[in-house]
Amino acid sequence: MAKQNIEMRYKRQEMFDITEKELTPFSVNGKDYLVYGNVNLSVFVSDYCNASCNFCVAQLRYFHDGVDYVKQAITDEKEYFDKLKIMLDTVKPLNPSVSLTGGEPTLDPKLPTMLDVLDSYDVRKRTITTNGSGLLKKVSGSSDTIMDKLISYKLQYLNISRAHYNEEINNNIMNLKNPSLSDAELEEIIHISNENSIRPRLSCILIKDGVNSVKEMIRYMDWAESIGVDNVVFRQLMKFDEKSVKPGRIPDFCKSQDVSLIQIWESLDKDKRFSFTTQILGYYYYVEVFKYKSIDMVSEMADLNLIENEKEKSLKKTNGIPVIYELVFHPNGNLCGSWREWKEVII
Ligand code: SF4
Repeated sequence: MAKQNIEMRYKRQEMFDITEKELTPFSVNGKDYLVYGNVNLSVFVSDYCNASCNFCVAQLRYFHDGVDYVKQAITDEKEYFDKLKIMLDTVKPLNPSVSLTGGEPTLDPKLPTMLDVLDSYDVRKRTITTNGSGLLKKVSGSSDTIMDKLISYKLQYLNISRAHYNEEINNNIMNLKNPSLSDAELEEIIHISNENSIRPRLSCILIKDGVNSVKEMIRYMDWAESIGVDNVVFRQLMKFDEKSVKPGRIPDFCKSQDVSLIQIWESLDKDKRFSFTTQILGYYYYVEVFKYKSIDMVSEMADLNLIENEKEKSLKKTNGIPVIYELVFHPNGNLCGSWREWKEVII
């Protein structure tokens, strides 16, 4: 690994400066912003999830701010879709990549119509993040499955959270309740994806009581490769502010089950089965990519503490013009620069 890559691994966000990147001037309702040039729009479909992971980042973001995970949602469908369209009209000049997320987006009855609306806006780099449970379920009143709908939508990236290569251990770690996703169903989904130009990716959390070492990561990737996957992401548990976090099972778990990626990367540097490909420095996350056999192995660490500091830092550099690092459309109809629906509200 070259010296400058090593330097970035250890310094990480110290070296990050959003103002060195392309920033697009953007005005909404008389307020000026600068938007990161390759901005992503996350459409948070719903907070409902049939799993109950002890490492759920959707929930941890709220606890980090010392509040409960309660998301208000528009219940009237017409009102929701009107707001969705107003939001898409607003962000159209930014041409964001679009990710669907939650909660579990494949179990939300609005999803098929949302896909039609997003497709009509010709959105870019289409991704969904899911635990996979609803993918083979039939759309109400149709013979199509959610997977069929995603194919018609021309989905490009299918991110499936799978915390272990063993189905039973995975279901236990994720506390997956009905419907869960069997290995046979997962294989079917991977096969359908590969046949329809959708790139599947498996996402695995590193935890002490699960995938916790290079040896276990190799087992996971060998299993992934055997079912037709060539893209795996391993995530270190998210860091957060231990002083202000609302205590509970998720922060407790994240603290006690942490597996350090730094130590894993240091082992990979000496392991001939892996070759370093690239690294990505984000505003609160840092990624290293390696090649293992046919697998593009992504590994990511992130720290919620860094977000506010980074935003304050950039505000000074832009003479007070807020920078939008990412866009999030919330179930209550707010478009924000934040994963909390009351923060950095744009419309
Ligand atoms: S599957 Fe995702 S959204 Fe659901 S509980 Fe687990 S981490 Fe949270």
